[in-house]
Amino acid sequence: MSNINGSCLCEAVRFEAQDKFQQFHLCHCDQCKKMSGSAHVSNLFISPEFFKWLAGENLVARYDVPKRSITNAFCKQCGSAVPYLSSTKQWVIVPAGGLNNCPSLKPQDHIFTNEKAEWYKDIDEIAQYPHFPD
Ligand SMILES: [Zn+2]
Ligand SMILES: [Zn+2]
Repeated sequence: MSNINGSCLCEAVRFEAQDKFQQFHLCHCDQCKKMSGSAHVSNLFISPEFFKWLAGENLVARYDVPKRSITNAFCKQCGSAVPYLSSTKQWVIVPAGGLNNCPSLKPQDHIFTNEKAEWYKDIDEIAQYPHFPD
């Protein structure tokens, strides 16, 4: 089984995981919108035993959202979302956009859709371009 690698934008933070992700959620909650600056986060969940830091763990900053078991973990140099250990320590939460290769597990669901951004609701109907439009 091949390993899955990932990094932040500046590549100072690097990590590796076995392809044993157990959950994959697209979360539309208000906190995830704030931390991503976008419509939702795309988070994989993996057991800590299958996850390994390769570099830059000391550059990871985390902000634990009060009263909700959500954390914004990011690279201190470039601000990219990076993995973090859940407050229960049961999972390492891995932002899917930080991966360099594709895990076997595909997104399972959209969650907290009652908090979905109004502007994102009919998103599949808009034009798509492989590059910036003219
Ligand atoms: Zn970085
Ligand atoms: Zn969320």
